[in-house]
Amino acid sequence: MHPWLTEENTMIRDTVRRFAERDIAPISEELWEKEGFPYDVWRQAGELGFTGLPYPEAYGGGGGSWLSFVIVLEELARVDCAVANSLMANSSVASLLNNFGNPAQKEKFLKPILDGSCIGSIALTEPNAGSDAGAIQTRAALVDGGWVINGAKIFISNSGTEVTGPVVLAAVTGKKADGRNEISNIIVPNGAPGFTYGKKLKKIGWRASSTYELFFDNCAVPADNLLGVQGSGLRQTLSTINTGRIFIGALALGILQGSLDRATTYMKDRSQFGKPIATFQALQFKLADMAVHTHAARLMVYQAAALKDEGRSFDQEASMAKLFATERAMEAAHQAVQIHGGYGIMSEYPVSRAFGDAKVLEIVEGTSEIQRMIISRALLN
Ligand SMILES: Cc1cc2nc3c(=O)[nH]c(=O)nc-3n(C[C@H](O)[C@H](O)[C@H](O)COP(=O)(O)OP(=O)(O)OC[C@H]3O[C@@H](n4cnc5c(N)ncnc54)[C@H](O)[C@@H]3O)c2cc1C
Repeated sequence: MHPWLTEENTMIRDTVRRFAERDIAPISEELWEKEGFPYDVWRQAGELGFTGLPYPEAYGGGGGSWLSFVIVLEELARVDCAVANSLMANSSVASLLNNFGNPAQKEKFLKPILDGSCIGSIALTEPNAGSDAGAIQTRAALVDGGWVINGAKIFISNSGTEVTGPVVLAAVTGKKADGRNEISNIIVPNGAPGFTYGKKLKKIGWRASSTYELFFDNCAVPADNLLGVQGSGLRQTLSTINTGRIFIGALALGILQGSLDRATTYMKDRSQFGKPIATFQALQFKLADMAVHTHAARLMVYQAAALKDEGRSFDQEASMAKLFATERAMEAAHQAVQIHGGYGIMSEYPVSRAFGDAKVLEIVEGTSEIQRMIISRALLN
């Protein structure tokens, strides 16, 4: 048990663990195979208060701590990382709306995201602009008192489901004095005229998390849907991504713990050469490494969340936690498959599915290479 965990944190962990094991674990394989979004699970997550946990009560949130929310993500990812991602991506939209939205926008768009009646998306990435987010090409222009948007987005989580709500979209809205693109965030309601989905994207991980291409062809939304100040979109999104890095660290932590738990159980159950494979030192040492990495990742992810709760700077800690936890989660998922032998390759085994999920975590919210750039840049500055 960690010294700084409060009674609230522990109570939430117990609740979410029960929910994940009772309501998600039995359907996780089916969700993976069918690449289906878990509507029932989403509804229950809303009822349990997970969707709005760390957000203000004034807009239907729970007023809880970021550390509690991180524990929710960790426990969900221990069982099914795709389900945890749906909650995490929704929360990133909630953070943008909560931090930069005006009262009318919060009433209209934030409230249903927090109570779980819809799910939100952030649309930043484009076919030709991923890590280099400043190079996006989607454009939005004010025409006759409304925004007209043209462009395409790719890899957008939480899009295309029956409960998908607003998309916070980054678009070029002009040029800055220094010649660089001026980027703004605009709230695009699902079903806005001129907004269509491309194909549903098939993935090696996060299969129950819905991912689509989005197209905007003279898509019209009201001028009031601008989020915050025109031209501050990239700054808004990058500040939200810092929190998102703690969330991805929490997802990685769930994979680490899940891999360790499953490998430990399997080693005791499986026998070869007339004895449990748990008696082979070559495998025992894999468990030891996984346990050390899980413990270290937990300290780093919880510390970053605790710093955010205290209103202190956490950017460097969030990048370090994201980098360390995701790379260790990839290793742990790899070793858990190895320990399961041929069974570990079969998708009916959770260790196999976690292997695909772990890879996604090294890519999203800034790849490992981008985290190393951020961390080293801060050191050199
Ligand atoms: C399943 C999934 C869900 C996603 N969900 C969303 C979402 O909801 N919303 C959204 O906007 N985006 C989303 N993304 C996009 C994600 O954020 C991007 O994939 C990620 O930022 C990397 O961009 P890219 O794929 O274009 O890779 P690129 O930026 O093209 O990178 C390719 C490689 O080059 C490396 N690289 C790039 N620049 C440098 C550099 N300067 N120095 C060294 N190496 C470098 C990268 O680390 C990587 O290894 C999602 C992606 C996936 C896979």
